[in-house]
Amino acid sequence: MSDIYDDQNIFAKILRGEIPSIKVFEDDETLCFMDIMPRTEGHCLVIPKTPCRNILDATPQQLAACMATVNKVANAAKTAFDADGISLFQFSEAAGGQEVFHLHFHIHPRHEGVAIRPPGTMGDMDVIKVNAARITAAL
Ligand code: 5GP
Repeated sequence: MSDIYDDQNIFAKILRGEIPSIKVFEDDETLCFMDIMPRTEGHCLVIPKTPCRNILDATPQQLAACMATVNKVANAAKTAFDADGISLFQFSEAAGGQEVFHLHFHIHPRHEGVAIRPPGTMGDMDVIKVNAARITAAL
């Protein structure tokens, strides 16, 4: 069944501390960490700490908590990268472009005339760590 939450997904493992992540922000209900295949400088992900597959099974409380964190981190990322804007992406189910089946929102700092990069290229961890620190400093 495609609509069942699988607690072996990679973000569930990050939440349990079973695999590492580069944290940007967390509160009681949400975690924000860097995407390891960044499509923009500062590309990070906001997830609820409770199980949720995607936008289709999210509760109003999970969405509200995620949006509060998106708002906070998006402003910090805009400041940190002197961005002109933010793109917020959310993909649900494989047909919608989803690859990791724990609800997540992509935050992309954007600059006028600069295209978002294609997906699937591993980032340089040292650069990603520096970018995380830039966002954290602006929070
Ligand atoms: P989706 O297509 O499901 O919306 O995006 C999944 C995102 O998770 C992709 O942007 C991908 O780069 C990212 N990602 C995949 N595996 C990992 C991982 O192990 N750690 C982190 N931080 N990001 C990951």
